[in-house]
Amino acid sequence: MTVVTRFAPSPTGHLHIGGARTALFSWLYARRQGGRFILRVEDTDRERSTDEYVQAILEGMAWLGLEHDEGPYYQTQRFDRYGEVITRMLAEGTAYHCYCSRERLETLRADQMAAKEKPRYDGLCRDGRASIPEGVNPVVRFRNPADGQVVFEDLVRGSIAFENAELDDLIIARSDGTPTYNFTVVVDDADMGVTHVIRGDDHINNTPRQINLLRALGVTPPAYAHVPMILGADGQRLSKRHGAVSVLQYRDEGYLPEALLNYLVRLGWSHGDQEIFSRQEMIDLFDLTSVHRAPSTFNPDKLLWLNQHYLKTADPAYVASHLSPHLKRLGLDPAGGVDLVGVVVALRERSKTLVEMAEAAQFFFTDHLAYDEKAVAKHLGLEGRRSLQAMTEALATLSEWTAPTLHDVVERIAAEGGWKMGQVAQPLRVAISGTAVSPPIDQTLALLGREKSLSRIAAALRHSDLG
Ligand code: GLU
Repeated sequence: MTVVTRFAPSPTGHLHIGGARTALFSWLYARRQGGRFILRVEDTDRERSTDEYVQAILEGMAWLGLEHDEGPYYQTQRFDRYGEVITRMLAEGTAYHCYCSRERLETLRADQMAAKEKPRYDGLCRDGRASIPEGVNPVVRFRNPADGQVVFEDLVRGSIAFENAELDDLIIARSDGTPTYNFTVVVDDADMGVTHVIRGDDHINNTPRQINLLRALGVTPPAYAHVPMILGADGQRLSKRHGAVSVLQYRDEGYLPEALLNYLVRLGWSHGDQEIFSRQEMIDLFDLTSVHRAPSTFNPDKLLWLNQHYLKTADPAYVASHLSPHLKRLGLDPAGGVDLVGVVVALRERSKTLVEMAEAAQFFFTDHLAYDEKAVAKHLGLEGRRSLQAMTEALATLSEWTAPTLHDVVERIAAEGGWKMGQVAQPLRVAISGTAVSPPIDQTLALLGREKSLSRIAAALRHSDLG
């Protein structure tokens, strides 16, 4: 059997941590099993679905690298198919028209509540009512089995049973003919050959209804895996209050997709006490049997720690490709003459996010340095300017412009002038970066190149002379 999983977001909001985790688990399971992963947009709630959210979800999935093998399917494009199935069910008697008015249903509900009964449809139209009210567009209800149990083996939670008597005759089409949520999910899962439904446990109550519907359609239900929810540190359901944002916002805040994926995979799944998983390792090791039953807790510090880890250890060329958009956002041209990969290597030990890295890298990409005047006052006094003068001459004639040769020059000038290393390096740093903080100065000079370095030193000398 080929495993087929799906991620079926409703585009009524952004792709958040919880949705992304569901998507990842579904994707991983398909990849692990050599199966197929379907993306299906459940956009039948036309009031709350927007095209903007659809785009944001697709963009978030692409950024995470959770590529789908099929789709995206859109439920709003499948209304003919849903209509077809409803017609068939009516003909077969697994569904029926219900003419009960809203008022009747409301009274029924109020009476049941008053009698402390569970509110449910009383089945007046189930066996055909004596007289059909005129001018009423009926809804279509599913003829749920009246007794017995629905039992399924949840791949995370084990055996779960529901009494059929507890389940209502679900409305599958509204009076205007539009299909309802549980019904469209069922038709799609059946048509798309979904073998494993992996989703949040907020859907558990839908599962027995969906299983009954599938059986009525003569389809063997898929396996289900309901993943426990994610909580904030205070034990409440995860929300923005806990610092959780959308996938695209993490991208914009300077996270690498690897960091977010690694973070997500550990939200409710573990493999021994391993914390770091490459994409391939996740695929090789992921299994639904190791998904936890208990809710997991969101921890933004751990996500940041993982991000730092990946910034430091990922291929710098890859990090550079993710740094580029952040430089552009600062109005800088990443192709502006400095080796971007070298910049990553110089900054990766000291940046927690790509946003921080881009900010720290600004001085490489601009010809208009913003001087930190305090640093200028501190390091470019008379003595500082003298060491800069000496450096200018040494740098102008240096035969080979590399970090090691530059390191030697700084050492030599310090020794010759009777300065400490810092008395040479700090003025140089202010001249080159505008501030007293930069990556190691030899590396910085090497990246910037001779011409730019010399012109910056000259500009700093002019600036501090005027000051
Ligand atoms: N569209 C549903 C949601 O976004 C998911 C349905 C499912 O996975 O079965 O919550």
